Amino acid sequence: MLLDFHTHTTASDGALSPAQLLARARERQIALLAITDHDTVAGYRSLLAPGERRPGDPQLVAGTELSCRWSGTTVHVVGLGMDCEHPAMREAMDTLATARDERGRKIAQRLEALGFTGALAGAQARAGDSQLGRPDFAAWMVAQGHVGDHNEAFDRYLGQGKTGDVKAFWPELATVTGWIVAAGGVAVIAHPLQYKFTRMKLRRLVTDFVAAGGRALEVLSGRQAPDQVAQLARLAAEFDLEVSVGSDFHRDGPYSVPPGVAVPRLAGLRGVWERWSGGAVPFTEGGAR
Ligand code: MN
Ligand code: MN
Ligand code: MN
Repeated sequence: MLLDFHTHTTASDGALSPAQLLARARERQIALLAITDHDTVAGYRSLLAPGERRPGDPQLVAGTELSCRWSGTTVHVVGLGMDCEHPAMREAMDTLATARDERGRKIAQRLEALGFTGALAGAQARAGDSQLGRPDFAAWMVAQGHVGDHNEAFDRYLGQGKTGDVKAFWPELATVTGWIVAAGGVAVIAHPLQYKFTRMKLRRLVTDFVAAGGRALEVLSGRQAPDQVAQLARLAAEFDLEVSVGSDFHRDGPYSVPPGVAVPRLAGLRGVWERWSGGAVPFTEGGAR
């Protein structure tokens, strides 16, 4: 049985529309699906409209992936099962949209200082209704012929340490975790190994997260080695946290995994999915996809 508590759509930086992702999930017979677009619940909400759902669809769980700051690093916290209408969620969306807009304007200022005039309007046109991000600036630069392709845009102007690598002023970890909890959701540390923290620093992150009301750890994210899953499962057990799993699907490609993750064997640990499945999801032998 396949589940997925971490996926993206065109409401943030994914390639499939929410309806297309839902169709893929239906084809793959995914039982439970959370759409967790960056700093928005728009993708998930669009599927609640009449006529969007079909027989055989997965059970949808409200989701989002919120950006925050912790110890000088951008950390991602997935929220699951929140009441999207709750004032805390509205505050979260407003605050994060403002932070993202400010970052977009700063990136544009820096690019314009390099002579790339029209960067902000160009990138905003690319983003449309979705969140403005560096990929939108890259797409604009490619379309304008400033660079040959997306990778060149990141290598020369937008990637780590380059002119356009502007850190957004994200809210603190405790703040975003608090928003999710206040809205009745379960907060999950996304892809804990992606931050490349030492084990000691990762334990500090988890300690602060738990103090803020965080309840779960993503122990399987996309392509991840079994020993890493085991390491994170031990960490979850140590802090008595629930565990979550997700593909972090953005688009089809040679290095991406498809949506839908088999439930790994997790002796003694509680999966977040038990909250929505009535505990009826069996683990899959081997834990592989
Ligand atoms: Mn992303
Ligand atoms: Mn992430
Ligand atoms: Mn993600």
